[in-house]
Amino acid sequence: MSDEGDDLRELYQELILDHGRHPRNFHASPDAQREAVGHNPLCGDKLVLYLTVGEDGHIVDASFQGEGCAISVASASMMTEMLKGKTAAQAKALWTYFEGLCKGSAGDDDAILASLDEDDASRLQALAGVRHYPVRVKCAMLAWRTLESALDPAVAKKVGAE
Ligand code: ZN
Repeated sequence: MSDEGDDLRELYQELILDHGRHPRNFHASPDAQREAVGHNPLCGDKLVLYLTVGEDGHIVDASFQGEGCAISVASASMMTEMLKGKTAAQAKALWTYFEGLCKGSAGDDDAILASLDEDDASRLQALAGVRHYPVRVKCAMLAWRTLESALDPAVAKKVGAE
């Protein structure tokens, strides 16, 4: 069915189940500078992403709230863990790499892969196991699409401004 070994697949599933059941950074952040809402009508997944960006441009805090299937929650949970300490450009590299993995064009972009730390790259590879289940890809991408909005100053609501 796939080129991944059963052990590896099991490990991926455990990671996703764990984050799906016990999401990290799962809370509202009323003081966050930016928030964006994401919705995946195909599955009913909804989430609100909260980001706080420091003066030096690094993401100092990321959290989310919402409800959805285990994959959408696990993806958001893993994403918020990865975002802390990243710049917007590094966050975009994560998203681009993940999108490539989900579309099956992954690994081609060595420059992006080289810019990611090994931990993040393997977490994204685990998450991208959903590419074997096309209806689930939108669930896994929801948090990342929401991140894209949150990082776009034109789209994101700036809390506390005015
Ligand atoms: Zn879903």
